[in-house]
Amino acid sequence: MTQSSSNGLAEALLKTYEVALAEPEHLNDPGDLDAFADRHGLTTRPADENQLASTKRFRDSLRRLFDASTPDPVRLSALNQMLDGISVGVELIPVSEERFCLTLKATSDDTAFTVIRDACLIDVVNAAERYGLNRLKSCLAEPCRDAFVDMSKNGSRRFCSTRCANRWHVSQHRARRQNN
Ligand SMILES: [Zn+2]
Repeated sequence: MTQSSSNGLAEALLKTYEVALAEPEHLNDPGDLDAFADRHGLTTRPADENQLASTKRFRDSLRRLFDASTPDPVRLSALNQMLDGISVGVELIPVSEERFCLTLKATSDDTAFTVIRDACLIDVVNAAERYGLNRLKSCLAEPCRDAFVDMSKNGSRRFCSTRCANRWHVSQHRARRQNN
């Protein structure tokens, strides 16, 4: 069966660990991995503990890609190293009359870990190709560290959402008032 990788899958996988929460981990057992794949339209074989552990390790490497303090050449070689491991089939599909995008061509025999990993990597490659590696960012409004792709025209986006932007501006304002 052919399946397409959904946009924002890498960000969604990173959001399965939310540092700001008292219980940050959302992938607690293999069933959570199956549910994640399912929510994103990825068909896979049922996950096991090994795949769960591999997915969490992959998630750590993925988070480093979305760290804006990491220089682009370092991110590029890290991404290329991750692409070395890609094992699921891919194909190029048209997204408009002139544009194409790389898509996952997984089968239901592929494991949850490989499908999720490879779909995330394709997602990141498409984003890097379209916007640049320096557009892979994490929210600056601590404690939120949500990952996002900055698709703004001038590349100056710093927050995952307007909610976080507002929260950050309010805290800056308060800090300035306290210093005066
Ligand atoms: Zn945020």
